[in-house]
Amino acid sequence: MNAKNVSMDDQARHETYVRRLSQAGYKLTHARLTVLQAIEQRDGHVTSADVLADVAVLDESIGRASVFRTLDLFTRIGIVRPTYIDGLSPSYVLLPDGHHHHIICTGCGDIIEFDDCCLGDLQSELSERYGVAISGHMLEFFGLCQRCTQTSSQAEE
Ligand SMILES: [Zn+2]
Ligand SMILES: [Zn+2]
Ligand SMILES: [Zn+2]
Repeated sequence: MNAKNVSMDDQARHETYVRRLSQAGYKLTHARLTVLQAIEQRDGHVTSADVLADVAVLDESIGRASVFRTLDLFTRIGIVRPTYIDGLSPSYVLLPDGHHHHIICTGCGDIIEFDDCCLGDLQSELSERYGVAISGHMLEFFGLCQRCTQTSSQAEE
């Protein structure tokens, strides 16, 4: 489903990202807004190849280097974070409220996503202690999912 309706939620999230850019002191350039649009129009994880392809469709005058610089900038100010769940090139995911985490099954590769965690307090504490304006964190869990646990215990019987 490519033509998803723009709900109020999408609009509110979009404004959050735009606000983060301007609060960090960056101009809302056409290139930055186009890269943001390219990420937003796909749901979930996008690779830099996806972003490059989509940006080329939206505006072919925006070059590769500019797309990569913008992805770096978005990462630095916490609009996206890179994820490494497929073991290949990183994919990026939008962070509407600062959290996006995975539980990855080491057996079958299944991924459970969740976006709440208790690291907010630690983040503010570290921020204060070391004087760093922390813009995000990465957290992934690894383990065997229910199905794989059952399969491996059946194999042992
Ligand atoms: Zn978190
Ligand atoms: Zn599994
Ligand atoms: Zn994810």
